[in-house]
Amino acid sequence: MHEYPVTVQIVDIASETARKNNGCVRRIDLVVGEDSGFIGESIQMYFDVIAEGTLCEGAQLFIEGVKPQLRCEKCGKHFERKRFSFQCPYCGGDGEPTPIGKEFYVKSVELEVEDQ
Ligand SMILES: [Zn+2]
Repeated sequence: MHEYPVTVQIVDIASETARKNNGCVRRIDLVVGEDSGFIGESIQMYFDVIAEGTLCEGAQLFIEGVKPQLRCEKCGKHFERKRFSFQCPYCGGDGEPTPIGKEFYVKSVELEVEDQ
């Protein structure tokens, strides 16, 4: 349920951008890592409801998921984390967590601006 407040924030940020440019929001691209703690589907679900009556109404929300990656402490290679396994597929070493997969940010906001 904690996706609700962040979705409100996303709508706020995008609406603010639109307001400054005298336009409305056509499209929002959001990056959500699988380890970010947020579920893309839930954000998508809340979005239409929250966007109603704002400058984001009718905008499309695109969510780009990022799979978590580990870095092998032996050979230094990055690899995608498999379920229940931290083992490097190249050399069998132990993988350590990286920031990849924890992303959560608005990548871009596309506006529709009327000619004046
Ligand atoms: Zn390795």
